Order: sequence, then structure tokens, then C-alpha cells
Amino acid sequence: MCPNPRSDPAGRRVVVIGAGQAGVQVADALRQSGHVGPMALVGDEPVLPYQRPPLSKEYLSPAGTRTAPHLRAQQYFADHRIDLYIGVTAATVELRSRAVRLSDGRELPYDVLVLATGAANRTLAVPGADLAGIHTLRTLADAETLRSALPDSRAVLVVGAGFIGLEFAAAAREHGLRATVIEAADRPLGRALSPEMAGHIAAAHQKAGTDLRLGEAVARFTGDGGRVNGAISTKGARYPADLVLVGIGVVPRVELAVQAGLPVADGIVVDEYLRTADSAVYAVGDCANHPNVHAGVRMRVESVQNATDQARHAASMILGGTDTYADLPWFWSHQGELKLQIAGVRRPDDESVVTGDPDVGRFSVCCYRRGRLVAVESLNCPADHVAARRVLAAGRSPEPGQLRDPGFSLKEFARKTVAAR
Ligand code: FAD
Ligand code: NAP
Repeated sequence: MCPNPRSDPAGRRVVVIGAGQAGVQVADALRQSGHVGPMALVGDEPVLPYQRPPLSKEYLSPAGTRTAPHLRAQQYFADHRIDLYIGVTAATVELRSRAVRLSDGRELPYDVLVLATGAANRTLAVPGADLAGIHTLRTLADAETLRSALPDSRAVLVVGAGFIGLEFAAAAREHGLRATVIEAADRPLGRALSPEMAGHIAAAHQKAGTDLRLGEAVARFTGDGGRVNGAISTKGARYPADLVLVGIGVVPRVELAVQAGLPVADGIVVDEYLRTADSAVYAVGDCANHPNVHAGVRMRVESVQNATDQARHAASMILGGTDTYADLPWFWSHQGELKLQIAGVRRPDDESVVTGDPDVGRFSVCCYRRGRLVAVESLNCPADHVAARRVLAAGRSPEPGQLRDPGFSLKEFARKTVAAR
């Protein structure tokens, strides 16, 4: 007798919208876990799914790889019976009849739907923002355009000292270009990092030749013959530029969820199991606003770790799992010589204790909330990062006073306390 797909988790028809880091991982995790039902993966970009991190790093480097960083080869999707629809948008979702309509008119019925629609770059609404030579960086196509433009550029202006802006400034340096970076806040990576780490990163970029302008924003761009030739800042300063990169954050892609009638609030609202208000629909990755146990608040997390771990969790839920999502967030960013790694989620009023030696550029900032370790930011200290992930995931916390002992080692603390459990 054939199992009923609606009652047999393994036989259900799963449709995943968004063929990015999270979408591909959902499909892969389902197959790895023995899901045998039909699966469709829908992506609106006209290329095989790829990973984004190399796009602002080695893909822009003159010495870096020329190969597109695809997540899987074409054959993988056929081998794993994942029906891949690329270059096509999921236009509407009908929750009642459980069907997705694609932009080319095809209809995909589902038993379970996963929204992995990611995020889109925030746009800068100032006069001149549509001049040629002003770019953003989210897609492989964006990275290819920038890679072609960099060797012929003379004056690079970056708007936003976030992850994209600083990684791009470091990549521009490899092309012999000294970028000017304009940031509206008074420190770089203000939302992500402690003042101690942000201050060190700012100084390191300045020392390496980046002209970092804090507390300043672009008022308008100027151009000549339709091409950008500079920007006027809110302080009235003029910055010449023939290549501009705008990296001022992202907005979650919620248009499909809105059309379907699912609740959204800075992302698609999901519960602790990553389920939306409709129990047949999950949301994962950059687009998912979830209750994060480590931060103690609802939030979206924009990282590869979050995309892959949430994808695996949703797959386990589809196959009958009952656990809540509780994976520890962690991040990395490579900016030239600066190898930054972050474990946990810091909040603005957390206290910082610095370990290691900032003067030689190898140290960690341990962030404490009400006396407990909640996040560790490590610069060029991979051993601290690995140990921090173990310690935080296990809910362990060294006393702040222990960290001030010059002989203290987070690695040793992890070995003693986590391994002993
Ligand atoms: P996405 O990767 O954005 O994928 C979503 C996909 O869904 C997109 O292809 C989108 O076009 C598609 N889509 C949306 N709506 C529809 C629809 N209706 N129909 C069909 N398709 C649709 N994170 C790190 O942890 N470390 C890093 O070093 C790092 N570097 C980064 C560098 C760059 C340049 C960028 C842009 C991001 C970087 N990130 C990094 C962040 C990380 O890449 C993202 O957090 C991650 O890609 C999120 O995965 P996702 O699948 O949720 O979203
Ligand atoms: P981001 O990290 O959020 O940084 C954007 C920065 O621009 C913030 O410092 C922001 O300040 C600032 N800003 C906002 N409006 C501005 C304005 N008008 N003028 C000047 N500065 C302004 O976002 P991003 O760097 O653009 O990155 C985009 C996405 O890619 C994010 O999801 C990011 O996580 C991801 N990414 C991640 C990595 C990594 O993890 N290594 C690397 C690259 C990209 P406020 O915070 O005050 O708004």
C-alpha cells in the first residue's frame, strides 16, 4: 500500500523558495535524512546556486579564484531528485490550496513549503544615486561587475563601514587602490561589534591606508556625462570617485510572505520551531525573524551559520522533529590581514573584557551580560573562537576576573569545563 504523503513525513511534497545558502541546505538535509518525497527548489537568479561570502573577498582579489563559488554542481540536483527551477520567481503562494505559482505560469503543489527568500540590499535614496559607476554587492553578477571595474578604477568610495564595505575596502587595497569609506555612525560595524573591537578594526584599516570617515553620510553624488565623479557629504566635504560601492545593510525579502498573508515584522515571523503562522510553512535564513535563545530577543541573523543551521532544523521538523531551534550564532569576516570571528550575540549594553594583546593585533573581546559570558569577538585568534563556541554552546562562563589573569586560556577553560560534562 502506498503511504499517504500528507501523513507520511518522508513522502511529502516539499517546495523550497529561494535557491541560496539556506534553500539548498534544506533540500540537501532532507535528502541526507532520508526524505524520499518530491522536492522542488525555486530561485529567481539565473545561475546555479552559489555561496556569497567569497564575493566580497577572494572573488575580488587580483590573485583570487576566477571560478564561481557554486554550492553544488548541476548533476547534484539530478542525482538527488531535487527539481531545480532557476531564473524563475515564485510569484504567489495560495496557503489554502497549498500551491505556489511561478512567474512563468507553472504551478507547484506542496505539502510543506519553506521560504528561504533571503534579503536584498538597502538602497541609498540621495540625488545622483542612479549614476553609472555606483554599485551594490549581493549577487554573483554584482561581484563580476565589480571585479571588471576594479582594475580600471582610480578613486574608490565606499558608503557604509559594515561587513561589505570593509571587506570591499580591503579588496580594493589589493588592487593598489586607497578607498575612502564613509560611515554614518561613529564607529565601523557598530551594530555587530563591541566599541573595543570596532575601534581596533577602524585603526587597522586607517593604518593600512583606508580613509575612514565616521559620523558622515553621502548627501548627493555628482557626475559627468551620466557617470559618477564624486560625492558631497553631509558635512559638505567633496570626495572624488569613479567607483562607488554602497553597502548600507539589507532588508529581508518578505514580499511573497506578505502576498500569502503571513505575518511579517522585520522578516517573516516564525516561532521557536521556525514555523510561520501556517504550520505547513517554514521560514529560514536571512528572511526569518525568530526568537533567538542566545540573544534573548526576536531577531534576524544574517550569516552562513544561521542559514545552514536553520535549514537543517527546518528539515528535521519536516521529518517529525520536536526540538526548538537553539544553535549558537557565529560569524566571520576577512578584511585583508584582519581575521575577525564572532561567537554568540552581543547587545549594546554588554560589558567587555579584553584578553590577548591588541598591540600585536591578536586578541579577543569577551562580552558579559549580568555576569555571564554571552559573546566572544576574536581577531586573528582562531583558537579562542573555537573554544568560545564550545563554551557558549555548553552554557559555561568563566568569571570576568579569571580572564584578567595573564595565564588564562579560553581553550584550556573549554577543555576543562566542556569536556568534563
Ligand atoms: P540568500 O543567500 O539571499 O538566498 C535567497 C535567494 O532567494 C536569493 O537567490 C534570492 O534571489 C531568492 N529569492 C528571493 N525571493 C524569491 C522568490 N520569490 N522566488 C524565487 N527566488 C527568490 N555571512 C557569513 O557568515 N560570513 C561571511 O563572510 C559572509 N560574507 C558575505 C559576503 C557577501 C558579499 C554577502 C552578500 C553576504 C555575506 N554573508 C556572509 C551573508 C550570507 O551570505 C547570508 O547570510 C546568506 O547568504 C543567507 O542565506 P539565505 O539563503 O537566507 O539568503
Ligand atoms: P551591515 O553589516 O548591516 O552594515 C551596513 C553599515 O552601513 C552599518 O554600519 C550601517 O550603520 C551603515 N549605514 C547605514 N546607512 C548608511 C548611510 N546612509 N551612510 C553611511 N553608512 C550607512 O550591512 P552590509 O555591510 O551592507 O552587508 C550586507 C549583508 O551582507 C549583511 O547581511 C551582512 O551580514 C552580509 N555580509 C556579511 C559578511 C560577513 O559576515 N563577513 C560579509 C559581507 C556581507 P547602522 O548600523 O547605524 O545602520
